[in-house]
Amino acid sequence: MSEKTLFEKIVDREIPADIVYEDDDVIAIRDINPQAPMHVLVCPKKPITMVSSAQPEDAALLGTLLLKAGEIATAEGYGDRFRLVVNNGAAVGQTVFHLHVHVLGGRSFTWPPG
Ligand code: 5GP
Repeated sequence: MSEKTLFEKIVDREIPADIVYEDDDVIAIRDINPQAPMHVLVCPKKPITMVSSAQPEDAALLGTLLLKAGEIATAEGYGDRFRLVVNNGAAVGQTVFHLHVHVLGGRSFTWPPG
């Protein structure tokens, strides 16, 4: 059996985290190294490595991640001004190989992103 991912260990309470939301399918935690006043990671409990490894049967779960990201941003007071980031691959900055959506808010953001 392969090693648990960071987020699986958090789900299993093997690593502590500031959990802002959890249900049967999703966990959302505050990033340990926040890049904005609000920086939450919304993760499927299913350890999908990255967007490009998701399968058609994951479509509803991928949709749930976006819906939860919006609900969390709204609950945090940034419902009309937040940014979502999903890194796909080490070359673009992915460091945790368990799919997650960064939900960022509370500062200005530039475009194009860096
Ligand atoms: P990535 O670079 O893969 O898109 O994002 C991984 C994120 O996980 C980073 O923003 C990093 O700060 C965060 N992170 C890494 N280790 C931990 C941890 O142990 N706990 C929490 N809450 N976040 C972590």
